[in-house]
Amino acid sequence: MGALQDFHRRSIHERDAFWTEQSKLIHWNKPFAQVLDYSRPPFARWFVGGETNLCHNAIDRHLEARAGQKALVWISTEVDKTVEYTYGQLHAEVQRTAAMMQSLGVGRGDRVIIYMPMIPEAAFAMLACARIGAIHSVVFGGFAAASLAARIDDARPKLMITADGGSRMGKAVLYKSLVDESIKLAKFPPGKVLIFKRGLDARMPVVAGRDVDWAELAPKHLGAQVPCAWLESNEPSYILYTSGTTGRPKGVQRDVGGHAVSLAASMKYIYCGNAGETMFTTSDIGWVVGHSYIIYAPLIAGMTTIMYEGVPIRPDAGVWWKIVQDYKVSVMFSAPTAIRVLKKHDPAYLKKYDVSSLRHLFLAGEPLDEPTHVWIQTELGRPVIDHYWQTESGWPILSAMPGVEKTHVKFGSPSFPCYGYDLKLLREADASDAGPDEKAVVVVVPPLPPGNLATVWGDDERFVKTYFNTFSKKLVYATFDWGIRDKDGYYFILGRTDDVINVAGHRLGTREIEEAVNMHSNIAECAVVGVADALKGQMPLAFAVAKDPSRLGTPEGRKAFEKEIMDTVDKQLGAIGRPKAVHFVTLLPKTRSGKTLRRAIQALAEGRDPGDLTTIEDPGALQQLKSALAGG
Ligand code: ATP
Ligand code: MG
Repeated sequence: MGALQDFHRRSIHERDAFWTEQSKLIHWNKPFAQVLDYSRPPFARWFVGGETNLCHNAIDRHLEARAGQKALVWISTEVDKTVEYTYGQLHAEVQRTAAMMQSLGVGRGDRVIIYMPMIPEAAFAMLACARIGAIHSVVFGGFAAASLAARIDDARPKLMITADGGSRMGKAVLYKSLVDESIKLAKFPPGKVLIFKRGLDARMPVVAGRDVDWAELAPKHLGAQVPCAWLESNEPSYILYTSGTTGRPKGVQRDVGGHAVSLAASMKYIYCGNAGETMFTTSDIGWVVGHSYIIYAPLIAGMTTIMYEGVPIRPDAGVWWKIVQDYKVSVMFSAPTAIRVLKKHDPAYLKKYDVSSLRHLFLAGEPLDEPTHVWIQTELGRPVIDHYWQTESGWPILSAMPGVEKTHVKFGSPSFPCYGYDLKLLREADASDAGPDEKAVVVVVPPLPPGNLATVWGDDERFVKTYFNTFSKKLVYATFDWGIRDKDGYYFILGRTDDVINVAGHRLGTREIEEAVNMHSNIAECAVVGVADALKGQMPLAFAVAKDPSRLGTPEGRKAFEKEIMDTVDKQLGAIGRPKAVHFVTLLPKTRSGKTLRRAIQALAEGRDPGDLTTIEDPGALQQLKSALAGG
C-alpha cells in the first residue's frame, strides 16, 4: 500500500501543493491567489480569487475535441424512449435553457428549485443554472408537498422548474399538481413556474401569470448564445437538502471551484473514468450521487453519461446489464438497496449480457452487507467497490482508489480514507483516538477538503453547531457514523451514532446485528432496532425479508426459521446480540433513497408515533410492520 499511503500523506501534509496540482484538472478563467483560506475555522474557502464555471468545465471545454461525441444518453424504460445528445447538442440545449431562465428574470445568485423526473430537461436546467451563476436546488421528485414547501421556504427560489408528471413502474406520478400544492403551503413562493409537459397529465391545472409552458418559451430562444458567468471559486453553485433520515434536512451549500476540482480528481483517482468512455450512475438527480456522478463529474471528465428513468427490474432484472453491454459502460455506480432488489431475481440475468467493458461497479448510500457484496461480485464477475460518503461531502470519504493504487478489497469494507480527508476514529467518551478494531465515531479533522459543504444554506451557526460540536475538546467534523479500523487499516462503517442498542450495558450497533442476521443464507435483507426492555434496558428486534418465503407458511416453519437466525447471530456476535424476536415481512420501510427508516420502525415497535414519514418509499411497509408486531 505504499503509493496510496504516500498519496494520502501528501494530501494532508503538503496540502497546498497537492491541491494546486489537482486544480489543474479543470479550466480556470482567472487563477486563484490562495489555495486555502482557513482564517475562520471551521469554514474553509478553497482556491480563493480563482474564477471558473462548472458548465464551462462540463461542456464548453470539450467542444473542440468532442463536439460530436455523445455527452448525455437518456434511456427511459418508463416511456420506452432513448435520446442521445452530443456535446455540441448539449451545449445548444443548455444555452437555450439558460436564455429561457434569464427571460424569466433569473440571474446570478438567484435560486431555482428543480422538481423534475429523470428527463434530459432536468439536466439542461441544472447545467443552465451553473452556466449563469444561478443556484439550483434539486428536490427529489418523490417528496410530498409539505417537504417541498419547507425547501421552498428555506431556499426562497425566484423560479421553480417542473414537469407535468413522471412515471414509475408504468404509472404516471403527477409533479405539477404537487408543486401547486406546495406553493400554497409556502411562505416564500416563486414568481414563476416553468413546466415541461410530457403528456402525462391531461388535466394539469395552469395558474395564469405564473405558469410558463416550456414548449411555448423554448422556440423563442432557438440558437441562443449565453456565455458562462465566471464565478469566484467560493460563490455557491447549489443547495441540496440531505435525505432527512435522522431528522430535519440540512441545506448543504456547495461552492464552485472546490466542487469542480474534487469531482475531476475523483474521476481520476477513484472511479477511473476516462474521456470518451461511458459512465452509468443509477441514482436520481435529486440525490447528491446524481448531482455529482450523473451530471457534473462524468461531463467534467469528458465522458458519456447515462441518465436512466426506470426501475432495475423492468422490463426484467437484466435491463441495467443490457445498458452496460450496449453502451460499453466502463464505470457504473449504484446502491446496495438496488443490488438487494436484483438479488431476489434470477441471477441468470447477470450472465445474459456481456459486461466485460465494466472496470468497476461502485456502491454507496448505505451499508453493503458482506453476503450481498460477495453475491454481486461473484455473479457479475467484475470488481465491486463499496465506498462511503455523504450529501455533505459531495464525493467519497472512504474508498478504494484504483487510480492511485490497486489494493485488495475486503468484503464489507469501504477500504481507506480518501486523499484530503484527515480521518480519525474518536472515542465517544473523551475524544481520544481509538485503537485497532475499536468502535468509535468517524470524524474529519478540518479543514474539510475541496468539494465538501461550505456551510448550511443561510445558517452558518447551524453548520458549526450541527457538525462541529460533538466533542468539546476537539474541533472536528462529525459524520454521525460509527466505524472501526482493522489492523490492516481497512475501515468498516457500523451504522449511525444514533442507531445504537444498549443491551444490559453493552453498546451494539444495529448494523453489526444486521450483518449477523444477513449471514443466514435465506435472508434477502433485514432491519434491527432496539426496543425498551424492562430487564436489559434495550433488546434488539429484527425484521427480516426471506429470499425464499416457502417456510413461512406455517407457524412451525416460522419458528424454526427464527431459531436458525438467532443461532446465526449467536455464532457471529454472541448471545448478547440475539434478537428478542424475528418478524418476517416482505418489505422494509425505507426512504426514497433506499435507507432503512430505523427510527420509524423503533417507534412502532415501542408503540409510539413514528413521526414525519414524508420520505417513505412505500407506506405499505409500515402496514406490514404493524401487523407483524400485532402477531399477524
Ligand atoms: P440526514 O443527514 O438528513 O439524516 P442522510 O444521512 O440519510 O440524511 P445522506 O447524506 O444521503 O443523508 O446519507 C449519508 C449517510 O449514508 C452516511 O452518513 C452513512 O450513514 C450512510 N452511508 C453512505 N454510504 C455508506 C456506505 N458505503 N456504508 C455504510 N453507510 C453508508
Ligand atoms: Mg446524514
